[in-house]
Amino acid sequence: KKTIIALDGHSSCGKSTTAKQVAKKLGYAFIDTGAMYRAVSLYFHENHITLTNPKEVEKALSEVHITFHFNEHRGASDVYLNGLNVEEEIRKMYISQMVSEVSAITVVRKAMVAQQQKMAKHRGVVMDGRDIGTKVFPDAEVKVFMTADPTIRAGRRQQELLSKGEMVDLDVIIENLKKRDIIDSTREEGPLSQANDAVLMDTSFMTIDEQVDFVIQLHDS
Ligand code: C5P
Repeated sequence: KKTIIALDGHSSCGKSTTAKQVAKKLGYAFIDTGAMYRAVSLYFHENHITLTNPKEVEKALSEVHITFHFNEHRGASDVYLNGLNVEEEIRKMYISQMVSEVSAITVVRKAMVAQQQKMAKHRGVVMDGRDIGTKVFPDAEVKVFMTADPTIRAGRRQQELLSKGEMVDLDVIIENLKKRDIIDSTREEGPLSQANDAVLMDTSFMTIDEQVDFVIQLHDS
């Protein structure tokens, strides 16, 4: 059974951790679409692009080439920006603080969505993001919308940053998650929203294994 599994939802609900493990169990590809918006953000940051200048944005976007390459050590794909592995850099807080603004730009979304649709051409893929079930693959066979209590999300995010050596106050993280959710939900193109046919999964009190089983059961049913 070759399927598209769309995992959408709020920031830091465990989407990519769940997606990665589901993909592994099913032998599917895993595509982290947030990593793509983060990579674009990194490029815009490095090249001092003015986000409100459409000409600058379009030119910069045409210079961005994003690819994924499997990392044996991690058991997952790393994201590459113009041939350079940026997996670690894009997870840092300064990128989290600009990514929602970048991903709200319509031309940026159109370019990323087109690439995502091409990447899943042969099906058998788990894709995590904000607009997969609504915009990228409205015909996905399995759609899950993930959410969780904001304080729990922030705590998990803080642990994740800490494990990579970045110490960030919980208040700063809560603010960032809130702000991203608002920008992501209110943008014109591809806003974050639960597809009509998506199943809601609140991960506040779920373990990763339970989340993975939940998605696998939907896939098998
Ligand atoms: O999933 P992650 O938190 O890494 O995504 C980072 C940001 O990228 C989100 O806050 C959102 O602004 C943007 N994003 C998006 N559409 C997607 C995936 C991510 O707009 N499909």
